[in-house]
Amino acid sequence: KLYNEVIELKGNIRVFCRCRPLKQDEIANGSTSVVEFDSSQENELQITCSDSSRKQFKFDHVFRPEDNQEAIFAQTLPIVTSVLDGYNVCIFAYGQTGTGKTYTMEGTPENRGVNYRTLDELFRISNERSSIMRYELSVSMLEVYNEKIRDLLVENSNQPVKKLEIKQSAEGTQEVPGLVEARVYGTEEVWSLLALGSRVRSVGSTNANELSSRSHCLLRVTVMGENLVSEQRTRSQLWLVDLAGSERVGRIEVEGDRLKESQFINKSLSALGDVISALASKTSHVPYRNSKLTHMLQSSLGGDCKTLMFVQISPNAADLGETLCSLNFASRVR
Ligand code: ADP
Ligand code: MG
Repeated sequence: KLYNEVIELKGNIRVFCRCRPLKQDEIANGSTSVVEFDSSQENELQITCSDSSRKQFKFDHVFRPEDNQEAIFAQTLPIVTSVLDGYNVCIFAYGQTGTGKTYTMEGTPENRGVNYRTLDELFRISNERSSIMRYELSVSMLEVYNEKIRDLLVENSNQPVKKLEIKQSAEGTQEVPGLVEARVYGTEEVWSLLALGSRVRSVGSTNANELSSRSHCLLRVTVMGENLVSEQRTRSQLWLVDLAGSERVGRIEVEGDRLKESQFINKSLSALGDVISALASKTSHVPYRNSKLTHMLQSSLGGDCKTLMFVQISPNAADLGETLCSLNFASRVR
């Protein structure tokens, strides 16, 4: 009973905030943290602003610098595994470049993130249910850069980049015809696919990190389920999205390509914010069509789909402005 009430109160949209630790070099040059956590409240944080005033923010959960990848995944688990019960799910990592979006989603070989842990868990549960359910899992990986969609699982990088578009299927869902959908049977296989995707992603860029901060990277897991007793079939999708850096770019610093890029990023991130806040406030018109990102995710956002946003922040006083922007963005979608 209590469980139901909690679900109802929170709806289908969750916002988790994760604050990374101060880095060695930040500590070395005397940087201080502006983020404080209440020892008794797991869902609150306080920011000390430059004029010493304090701002409080509340989320569904607040992860602290000392919380590890296991702790994050423990809270994410029920949402991601609901894809096996036929729900469409979207998970986003939002925030300034350098705050840990990729760390949370991809992680490192020693500290694997949500993507790997999710696939691992999906395979584990599907084996566990094998006497009643048969599941088929497949994976796609794509990038949205300057409102263009690029397949990251196409190995031959010598060929001209195939332009992908979003089409509406007869069932009314959004599809990307031609996108590689690789059937997968185990977690290690997925890990090497993701490595391929990352390699393809960085081809042609002089600085892989720079490029990755200016494009959205989306991993899509498609689950086909068949109930062996009732023969009922389901198809559901889980999107794991590492968004482009949310930092505002100073006007004087940029021109030309860099300016165009930042305008595309601003446009798509604010479109995402508009869609999620429209869904949270149960507005009848949801503006999915304002960006490639939201248009493509349309069938996985809203209705009884589940959405989780990780808002990544830096504790560093030097990042205060961007931290407040990210927290305000997140408060708007909650
Ligand atoms: P983003 O993708 O948002 O630009 P990254 O994930 O690349 O940021 O993180 C920047 C750096 O900080 C990386 O070296 C990453 O390993 C490290 N980092 C981020 N979050 C954490 C964390 N919670 N614990 C330890 N290291 C982290
Ligand atoms: Mg990154």
